Amino acid sequence: MSYSHLDRPVQFLKGVGPKRADAFAKLGITTARDLLYHVPRRYDDASTVEPIGRLEVGMDVSVIGRVRSKGVIPTRRGLRIFQAVLEDDSGMITVAWPGQPWLDRKLRPGDTLLVSGKVKFFHGRQLQPREYTVLSRGDVESEPEERPTGMIFVTYPATEELPQWVLRSIFERNLDALLEWSVEDEYLAPEAMQRLELPGLREALTSLHRPVAVYDAERGRRRLAFDELFFLQLVQAQARRKATELEPGIVHRRSNELIKPLHDALPFSLTEAQAAALRDIYADMQSDRRMSRLLQGDVGSGKTAVAVFAMLLAVEGGRQASLMVPTEILAEQHARNISAMLEPLGVPVTLLTGRLASGERRGALEAVASGDAKVVVGTHALIQDAVTFAELGLVVIDEQHRFGVKQRMALFEREEGRPDVLVMSATPIPRSLAMALYGDLDLSVLDEMPPGRTPIRTALRDPSSRKTVYAFVRDQIAEGRQAYIVYPLVEESEKVDLLSATQEFERLRESVFADARVGLLHGQLASAEKDEVMRRFVEGEVDVLVATTVVEVGIDVANASVMIVEHAERFGLSQLHQLRGRVGRGAAESHCILVADPGEEALERLKIFRDTLDGFAIARADLRIRGQGDLFGSQQHGKDPVLRFADLMADEDLLALAQRDARALVSLDPELAAPEHGRIRDHLFARYQHRLAMYGVG
Ligand code: ADP
Ligand code: MG
Repeated sequence: MSYSHLDRPVQFLKGVGPKRADAFAKLGITTARDLLYHVPRRYDDASTVEPIGRLEVGMDVSVIGRVRSKGVIPTRRGLRIFQAVLEDDSGMITVAWPGQPWLDRKLRPGDTLLVSGKVKFFHGRQLQPREYTVLSRGDVESEPEERPTGMIFVTYPATEELPQWVLRSIFERNLDALLEWSVEDEYLAPEAMQRLELPGLREALTSLHRPVAVYDAERGRRRLAFDELFFLQLVQAQARRKATELEPGIVHRRSNELIKPLHDALPFSLTEAQAAALRDIYADMQSDRRMSRLLQGDVGSGKTAVAVFAMLLAVEGGRQASLMVPTEILAEQHARNISAMLEPLGVPVTLLTGRLASGERRGALEAVASGDAKVVVGTHALIQDAVTFAELGLVVIDEQHRFGVKQRMALFEREEGRPDVLVMSATPIPRSLAMALYGDLDLSVLDEMPPGRTPIRTALRDPSSRKTVYAFVRDQIAEGRQAYIVYPLVEESEKVDLLSATQEFERLRESVFADARVGLLHGQLASAEKDEVMRRFVEGEVDVLVATTVVEVGIDVANASVMIVEHAERFGLSQLHQLRGRVGRGAAESHCILVADPGEEALERLKIFRDTLDGFAIARADLRIRGQGDLFGSQQHGKDPVLRFADLMADEDLLALAQRDARALVSLDPELAAPEHGRIRDHLFARYQHRLAMYGVG
């Protein structure tokens, strides 16, 4: 790998000795490049800075002034207030920081501060700071008369050891060189920048550190956002190539001899979204390029029907298809539903789980190996075990988020056959997020619900009305319905005053629902026990299922009409949506009741949830509220870069461009061997090693 000036340790920069280098290391900054990418977190426009002499009570302002005097003032109630008098050419004002006497040690007379906050009346005008920054020190290191250059004041993410003024002074002394060196990192050709309407790297970084206006910094941010998205997509494009292109796939032949009869037999016609997804899938399967597609659709949007048609295409062409699901109960449920659709067409459906008696299992394995089994439904033991298919043409994975990326990629490395792969997810996420997380897959979305559903009614209840809620559940049971009651914890903990599933199960069984049959389901039960409880609920032998979020995934009990969620404020919106999706699967009207003792903020969130049934809208709200910080959580490895600059909601356009460019590059020059792609290759291998390894393409 070629060596760049920016790879130098930060310690060799002006103003950075060993001690500051250590302090930088704590911020994750070890090289000159890291420092250059340590960009301001905040910009203040000088045109909004008020002269101190013009401040009036009630104004919300930013001012710049020098500390003329300062001190700590005790109050009668024991509170100590740090006060400083700030001065500019037009006047003076007192700034007061209640309860922060230590500032007395940090600020010195002569320091220049940028302070924003509200002007209050208190023995005259007084500024109550919301935020402040030391722009320059009156004594050491910076010129006494120095004023920040330009019209925009930047504020860097700082620490105790690396305060604002130190960072500023370090940038002051090194930025020109750093920017100069950044040219060595430029990987976009001028035509590409023009086409993408993005500035060059040097210009972008200049804009971020020394913006001439706030929009200028935004332009710089977009360039760095593109870079992040592009490299993420490049990793995924490599994974996609490995999955779909390295070896030719099966060309499935379509005769319609099974597909048509199923169309005729179904009691409904496909939604437009289902039809569109199937067009994508059929096209993939009929081509010689392997399919690696994600089918996304909210709970109940009809993914199974789509999967069944896809499996029929494989069977029509003389091959086998398999459907993998995360649990045995789900496998049984699917096998039952799919049999009902396919047995009349003469297509056998084989169930393969660990629960089968050994004779049955042997029979199933033989049928799979001989090719007599056409559609095979099972858990992921299907790929792990020594299950040999005669000629596997298609693998469908349900609830894909339960399977890791590695497991998914392993499908493409099977010895026998080169099946097409369709993964399905019932977690509705915004399209941009799906592209970012699953950029290695092609995407089909069921964004439309089959008609004729009775909408689920959602209500928010205070813990004080629990009695009424229980009475409602008893009424529903009396009508022959079943209910879920979900808790955030398994065991009661001393510290947190939350109702736990286990304790509540005991209580409910003995008192509130003494006349009903109550079951308990949580993640710490042995899997046989879990299956047993769930099976009894499915068979209608349990009226009330007390559970933790293990019921979240895919289970389908048409007779269950009530979902109660306790401590609903503790759940994310998307998680609540999954829970709500457990009811409303039959003809009867269903109810989701959130019991919550929420603060103001949680209440806003829960109201959004109450007022919409659209999973995608809920997912967008969730992303907006919680931010994208932990999105890559499960995919995170070590010092793997996260998205620092890109904002998946705002930068959807950039993401689409990044994906298109990354895929085009990989198909043009898969190994990035051309000299003009050298920088891209260097950067990819230097910074994205973990992520490449995660997909097995490193
Ligand atoms: P998902 O797997 O996406 O949660 P399912 O495939 O289980 O959804 O479908 C939910 C229900 O809707 C099933 O009972 C299915 O038979 C029915 N269904 C699927 N597609 C349609 C359609 N186009 N019109 C009416 N009902 C449909
Ligand atoms: Mg194919």
